Amino acid sequence: MSSTATCTARPAARSTAGGSTAEEDLLTVYAEAFERDADPEDFPLEAMIAHEYGHQILARHPRIATRVAGVSEASEEILASLLGAMLCSEDADRVTLFAKAAAELLDRGQSAAAANRQLQELWELFEALL
Ligand SMILES: [Zn+2]
Repeated sequence: MSSTATCTARPAARSTAGGSTAEEDLLTVYAEAFERDADPEDFPLEAMIAHEYGHQILARHPRIATRVAGVSEASEEILASLLGAMLCSEDADRVTLFAKAAAELLDRGQSAAAANRQLQELWELFEALL
């Protein structure tokens, strides 16, 4: 699928100010660890497959595809990673994909708190729809 063209994480210049809660700090740590390790060669195969499966769900799932039709490519990447995280059986892959989604939200200038909230809301929405 052509939408995989933007899958590669990019190093980003942004504030590294930590969150105000342990949860937000953890999210920031995950996101920064992901960016540091963002060599596509190193991206775990299982996580990559789960992310691609996330794209398939976004394109084909009857209840999800209609809701995400027309979102930007960048947003689709975040949603594919989040769906991939939900589908991973390994905790490490789940964390990697969640961190990828979080890193992309932080790259857009969102605070860790806002990113965390948004990912949790999306997670709950997908859980209800899947
Ligand atoms: Zn992708």
